[in-house]
Amino acid sequence: MRVAPVDTDESAPGRAGRHRVFLFDLDQTLLRANGAGGAAFAYAFRTVLGDDTALHGIEYAGRTDRGILTEALDRAGVSPAEQGDVRQCIVQRVCEALPDCLRTADARTLPGSQSVLAALSEEPNVTLGMGTGNLRATALIKVAHVGLSPWLHDGGFGDDHTQRHGMIADAAAALCPPDRDADVVVIGDTALDVAAARSNGFASVGVATGGATRATLQACGADAVLADLRDTEHVLRVLRTVRFPG
Ligand SMILES: [Mg+2]
Repeated sequence: MRVAPVDTDESAPGRAGRHRVFLFDLDQTLLRANGAGGAAFAYAFRTVLGDDTALHGIEYAGRTDRGILTEALDRAGVSPAEQGDVRQCIVQRVCEALPDCLRTADARTLPGSQSVLAALSEEPNVTLGMGTGNLRATALIKVAHVGLSPWLHDGGFGDDHTQRHGMIADAAAALCPPDRDADVVVIGDTALDVAAARSNGFASVGVATGGATRATLQACGADAVLADLRDTEHVLRVLRTVRFPG
C-alpha cells in the first residue's frame, strides 16, 4: 500500500479521481445490536469462567474486543500466560451465542445504512470495508444478521489489537490497492474512531448515532460530522468532499 500524501490545498474539496477506501465502524454507526454483543460475552464468561462479574460496568463503545477481553480477563484474575487459551474458549462461545442474542435483541441496521453502502458501491474507484473493534467472526455474524453482507466482506477487526489505531491500519492494508495511492476515510460514532483515523493520517467522518454528540465528534477532530445516515445524497456528498487532515 502506498500511503496517500496529505492534501493541504484548502480550496480542493476532496480529491477527485483517486481510489477511495471507506472503512465503516459497525456498532452504532451502521447497525444497532441492542446489547447482543454484551449478552454473548456474558454467556461466554459464565460458561467458561463460571460467572460474568468481570464484565460488569465494562466500557464497550469504541473499543476493540481484544481490549475488552484483556481487561475483563485481568479483572477475573486470569494470568497473562493463561489468557490465550481462555480467550480462545470464550471467543468460541461468543460466536455460538451471538446469533440467538442478535435475534433476541432485535438487532438491525441503522436507518440509511443499506442505501449508503449500496450507493457507494456503485461509484467508481471505491472500496468498502469494515473498521470495527468486533472480532472478525462476530463482525461477519452481525453483518450477515442485519443484511449488510452484500457490501461488507473484509477490513480490520479487534482480534489482535487492544487499541483501535492498529485495527484501522490493518483495515487499510487489507483493502487499499497495492499499486495505487488511495484516500482512506474512517466512518464511526466515537471519539476513538476519529482518533484511530487521525493517528493513521486518514480522514474521519463522525456519525452521531452512538453516545457522542455532533459537537463532541467535531471537538475531537472529525473532518466531517453527520447526524445520521438517513439522507443518502447528503451522506455521499459529505463522503466525497471530506477534507483530508493537513
Ligand atoms: Mg461504534
